[in-house]
Amino acid sequence: MRKNIVAGNWKMNKNLQEGQDLVKELQSAVFGKALKCEVIVCTPFIHLATVGGVIDKNKVKLGAQNCADKVSGAYTGEVSAEMVASTGAQYVILGHSERRAYYGETNAILNEKVKLALANNLTPIFCIGEVLAEREAGKQNAVVKKQIEEALFDLSADDFAKIVLAYEPVWAIGTGKTATSAQAQEIHAFIRQTVAAKYGKTVADSTSILYGGSCNAGNAKELFANPDVDGGLIGGAALKVDTFMPIVEAF
Ligand code: PEP
Repeated sequence: MRKNIVAGNWKMNKNLQEGQDLVKELQSAVFGKALKCEVIVCTPFIHLATVGGVIDKNKVKLGAQNCADKVSGAYTGEVSAEMVASTGAQYVILGHSERRAYYGETNAILNEKVKLALANNLTPIFCIGEVLAEREAGKQNAVVKKQIEEALFDLSADDFAKIVLAYEPVWAIGTGKTATSAQAQEIHAFIRQTVAAKYGKTVADSTSILYGGSCNAGNAKELFANPDVDGGLIGGAALKVDTFMPIVEAF
């Protein structure tokens, strides 16, 4: 059966010292607890190797927030999937709406990134989601379907089965507005049906679909109680153990 996951996306926050302190504190907080979900921290690239050296990967897994769409070579400033994997990271967030909006990442570029991540044994946490105008026009299902189809549906069933999806309505990211529990369940079920129509029920039922967008201690329990919500991708609330742990313990 599919995994429950709570993944923290630190975005461009925390210097190296602060990142180490946060992860040490998180590690102590999870120590000895029988958690019902996998806990992942997705740090800035520069922190990966150091944070990887500090964490017990049985307790807290490590992820990056991006990787290049090229294998290697003259791409100044880029970080390849192979480099990410060489730090000990096991996950990589791809297709976050901030990458799509501010750095021009298209579904075609993301398709390249996903394939390179998989080739380097990284698990993509692949983000999809609509903007407010699309939600208001009732187009959210069509938007997420197109994102999945264009970026992921040329993968083999075996490769698709390695992916984690994160539904993140863009209007809920960092805004304090959360999708209602019913809205989340409705679109998560639609996403699972879309996967089932392409890859079959077994793959769809084993795909973890996380919710992201102003998820916090107050709403995580209700969101995660839905049958098709398998955890959360957490931004702001992942920056402090006091706000992250109640989400981890919401399962
Ligand atoms: C995110 O950016 O992935 C996210 C969910 O952010 P926040 O929790 O701050 O809305």
